[in-house]
Amino acid sequence: MDNCIFCKIVRAEAPADIVYENEDLLAFRDINPQAPTHVLVVTKKHFQHLDELPAHDLQLAGRILLSIKEVAQKLGVAGGYKVLTNCGEAAGQVVPHLHFHLLAGKKFLP
Ligand code: AMP
Ligand code: ZN
Repeated sequence: MDNCIFCKIVRAEAPADIVYENEDLLAFRDINPQAPTHVLVVTKKHFQHLDELPAHDLQLAGRILLSIKEVAQKLGVAGGYKVLTNCGEAAGQVVPHLHFHLLAGKKFLP
């Protein structure tokens, strides 16, 4: 998507503090962190939100989940973190590109 900020980060056309990358996903630090560790795990392919993830692609869904776990391990927060995705504007989604917030530290989002 041309004007999508997360697609631009995936294409390296916009800056980001990248902490992890694999063939499906990119993880980078949130510019407005809500916890001591606040990383966004973003699909490289543009989906608007979780509802758009194809139901037939169980492998991708599984790889996303396992990659989030790997990011937590890499960040040294395994065993003490929260994962959150906002699905749609009504849920507070601001960037319409599927992403998972990985939060860890003393100050968690509710
Ligand atoms: P959401 O409400 O789930 O759509 O959250 C979007 C998140 O993306 C917010 O926490 C923002 O602070 C974060 N964000 C927006 N633009 C950028 C960016 N260029 N780099 C890193 N994080 C961003
Ligand atoms: Zn996008």
